Amino acid sequence: RPVIAIVGRPNVGKSTIFNRIIGDKLAIVEDKPGVTRDRLYGRGEWLDQEFSIIDTGGIEIEGEDHILRSVRVQAELAIEEADVIIFMVDAKAGVTPADSEVAQILFRSQKPVVVAVNKVDNLQRADDIYEFYSMGFGEIVGISGAHGTGIGDLLEEVVKHFPDTVDEEYGEDVIRVALIGRPNVGKSSLVNAILGEERVIVSDMAGTTRDAIDTPFEKDGQKYVIIDTAGMRKRGKVYENTEKYSVMRAMKAIERADVVLVVIDGEVGIIEQDKHVAGYAHEAGKAAVFVVNKWDVVEKDEKTMHQFEQKIRDHFLFMTYAPVVFLSAKTKQRLHKLLPVVNTVSEAHAMRIPTHVLNDVVSDAVAINPPPTDKGRRMRINYATQVAVKPPTIIFFVNDPELMHFSYQRYLDNKIRAAFGFEGTPLRLFTRRKS
Ligand code: GDP
Repeated sequence: RPVIAIVGRPNVGKSTIFNRIIGDKLAIVEDKPGVTRDRLYGRGEWLDQEFSIIDTGGIEIEGEDHILRSVRVQAELAIEEADVIIFMVDAKAGVTPADSEVAQILFRSQKPVVVAVNKVDNLQRADDIYEFYSMGFGEIVGISGAHGTGIGDLLEEVVKHFPDTVDEEYGEDVIRVALIGRPNVGKSSLVNAILGEERVIVSDMAGTTRDAIDTPFEKDGQKYVIIDTAGMRKRGKVYENTEKYSVMRAMKAIERADVVLVVIDGEVGIIEQDKHVAGYAHEAGKAAVFVVNKWDVVEKDEKTMHQFEQKIRDHFLFMTYAPVVFLSAKTKQRLHKLLPVVNTVSEAHAMRIPTHVLNDVVSDAVAINPPPTDKGRRMRINYATQVAVKPPTIIFFVNDPELMHFSYQRYLDNKIRAAFGFEGTPLRLFTRRKS
């Protein structure tokens, strides 16, 4: 999934635009030491093109010259992480010294840049944008965050610069697995434990265009590839990535995976950071498994596993579908349980339910518990159909989508899960009008 970054000095309106682009989707906040606020990560789409977007605008450094220094840091971050940069300026303020500074940094990077001139509240008056051509970028779009105008035109320019879609490098029969979790939970140990047991296939699948090193292997006739989150593996004795846990890298790995293993340190327990990235796997519609590692050092009785699982359920309320595996990468205790679960959730993720079978289940569910009336009206479901896999996506055609309430949708979700399993995968349910 391509990455867009928004840069620009404070108060040009970056977060307004960011929020308009991601809509009601979740934004992930990453704390970075030394700065007063955060940067935000989100997902968006335009004309069927999905992308990740970073709002670097939260990065503000205190002290003298703080605006200049803040935008410099933002620009560098954007250059490092993004495929395309939206450079935002303010029509009312004109080209300021800070703008020129950012322009120079971006210019040197040779990354594609689209300039968004914000606060052009009357798009007919396009004169407002001309002076910004002096910064040297050819693509300039006038927008208004306040009115929400011009954003489509902006995204249209931006998506033109996306790299060609990359992710069909592995066949349909290969399960792509990503391991996420903060440093020291044992991700690399787990990868080594899995690979140590299996024959590593040396093939031309390895060595992709990305900065990641993917490792293909095969077990019991099933092909897998471990999507490396670059920095997961140790180079020599040094961690490639000791000081910070890069959310962006984890997000990229998640995008490319079918199954995400959310690795938790059984000894330390669950921490807040685990939640953010797991949430992203959920948002991205990936199959997921919680892996509680270091089970060898946990003092336990017959209740411990159940209690730990309960803690996971309490923390990850939105991912009750994900199974939990307890193991030790170090002693390989219970390691053999992992891949069969990966197979199960991957199958569920790709499962396609025939329309008539789905409709039998939906009719039964409606017969047992009809939709409640709303102002004297009742929703009628004409039929349901699964329109996509990975994740399974179901559309309900109804007389009026407004009548589909959250609680009733959850009821249908539960009934569908009870009938078909769908273990380990999120379901996407949509309601459309058709009478
Ligand atoms: P990563 O940063 O998530 O890749 O974590 P590592 O794989 O580097 O592991 C971090 C530390 O935890 C290392 O000292 C490992 O030896 C240790 N470790 C990993 N897995 C286990 C396990 O199952 N049991 C125990 N006791 N220690 C483990």
